Amino acid sequence: MTQNQDTEEQEINRLLAEMTALSEDNHGPVCPRCGASVDQICLVPYGSRTGAAVGGALGAGVGLMARKSLSTVCGLIGNAIVPGVGLVAGKMTGMLLGFLTGTTVGQAVGSVVDHTVIRKYRCKRCQQTFDV
Ligand SMILES: [Zn+2]
Repeated sequence: MTQNQDTEEQEINRLLAEMTALSEDNHGPVCPRCGASVDQICLVPYGSRTGAAVGGALGAGVGLMARKSLSTVCGLIGNAIVPGVGLVAGKMTGMLLGFLTGTTVGQAVGSVVDHTVIRKYRCKRCQQTFDV
């Protein structure tokens, strides 16, 4: 009985060790300079930053173009209160919404690019940047 439990526990430990080794193998870049392991390595957010910037700019443009319905609604409300102000507010709101949406989408896309295309890493120990 005790023997069986021991074997099972050993088996589980072995499997766990294998799984850990595997997961480290899969996304476990090792620093080429100082040999720091995966917990010392972080991803350089190159794509997500660029993606956010590009996405934000695109989003602002799209928001500006797609503002029509929004600015009409805002314009109607705004013009009812202060004539002339509503249209400007509507444009600004459209741009801002577009910018925020674009930034979020761009960040998401950029993050995927970071993990799949660019794969640039930085070692926290020696600050070495390297590709995988
Ligand atoms: Zn290093």
